[in-house]
Amino acid sequence: MDRIIFHIDQNCYFASVEMISKPYLRDVPMAVTGDASKRHGIILAKNELAKKAGVKTAEAIWQAKQKCPDLVTVSSHYEDYAFYSGRLRQMYEEYSDKVEPFGMDECWVDMTDTIGDRDPREVADEIRQRVKDEFKLTCSVGVSFNKIFAKFGSDYKKPDATTVITEDDFKEMIWPQPVSELLFAGGATAKKLAEVNIKTIGDLACSDRGFITDYLGKPGDQLWLYANGLDDSPVRAADHERELKSVGNTMTTPADIINRTQAAGTFRTLSSSVAARLRRHGLLGSCVQITVRDRDLNIYEHQMMLFEPTSSEKVIFDSAMKLFDESYDWHAPLRGVGVRCTKLISEDSGVQISMFPEQEQTKAEDDKLARTVDDINRRFGDGTVRSCATLQGVTNPNYDPEFYDGGITAGKKSPFA
Ligand SMILES: [Mg+2]
Repeated sequence: MDRIIFHIDQNCYFASVEMISKPYLRDVPMAVTGDASKRHGIILAKNELAKKAGVKTAEAIWQAKQKCPDLVTVSSHYEDYAFYSGRLRQMYEEYSDKVEPFGMDECWVDMTDTIGDRDPREVADEIRQRVKDEFKLTCSVGVSFNKIFAKFGSDYKKPDATTVITEDDFKEMIWPQPVSELLFAGGATAKKLAEVNIKTIGDLACSDRGFITDYLGKPGDQLWLYANGLDDSPVRAADHERELKSVGNTMTTPADIINRTQAAGTFRTLSSSVAARLRRHGLLGSCVQITVRDRDLNIYEHQMMLFEPTSSEKVIFDSAMKLFDESYDWHAPLRGVGVRCTKLISEDSGVQISMFPEQEQTKAEDDKLARTVDDINRRFGDGTVRSCATLQGVTNPNYDPEFYDGGITAGKKSPFA
């Protein structure tokens, strides 16, 4: 194979992480649920036993219990999921420096330059075994010559399996499958293709490229290339995102900031402008950093990773306040603060959709509102429309420090916290 790409997908990830600390959950049907009191009373993940009983991700807890009265539910622990996600990635990085995460529980790893003479299947099996031994988790690994087929492979057989798809056998393995199985070919696309009698990935691959491009636009051309095994997109090295520039703002205040309300008002203003700039450039930030300068000009920096990349003022602001509240002890008034988003990715780089449909809805509404405000401000001047909180310096009443995952990066914790 020209390139050797692994796609490693953790099986039943959230549920499996819960079972690490609570092994008795392995023997009962169990599901990880959102918090019912916060209107997230839905199934986020389930173990194999619950799956066999018909429990489905994203359905309401009561629906799941109708099908499976013995279902044991546990609430989610995002910090744990993020923790293991980082540790797993570190393990993959022992094999290659090109590791690209896709959501919390999936990664592509480009092994082309590092695998040497070893047999790819043997290395994939070794990784699976290590994931079992070192983490008590299971994963499926797809091995192929491009990212799309590697991803297909990790889905092909699971849990706990390796699937190798080569240039010689991809037609046999992939082409008979429905076109909707192809990454990025959603239900709407599959439906549209069915109208012209393209039902399998093979149908798509053998169709006329020009026709598909006319019919579906540029994404259609992309899909046609995918179906033919011609995806040449690189696995982005772990460092790649860090190389992209960040979007940030700092503010030196005319007078000292002496309390949390004033600090929050300032963070709100900065978050709002950082979010607007991200949207203007079509970017999302995966990491939020704050800078705090006290009256004696000491500077403290803190950062946290987000669950998913964002250009939302609310998410950036809430994260900034969480970092601030966790780290600053008010030993002195503040002279300035800053907010910065780093690890930027493009808006259309195929971010995995959230596992929380209810949040997805709110997020889409928030995003629409923000873009409308951007539009007005672009036409009538910055600051024409802005949130009350930036004017009055009041804190956000909905600020819930528990909600966002992450925290202060180890080693960067302020000695003054
Ligand atoms: Mg998974």
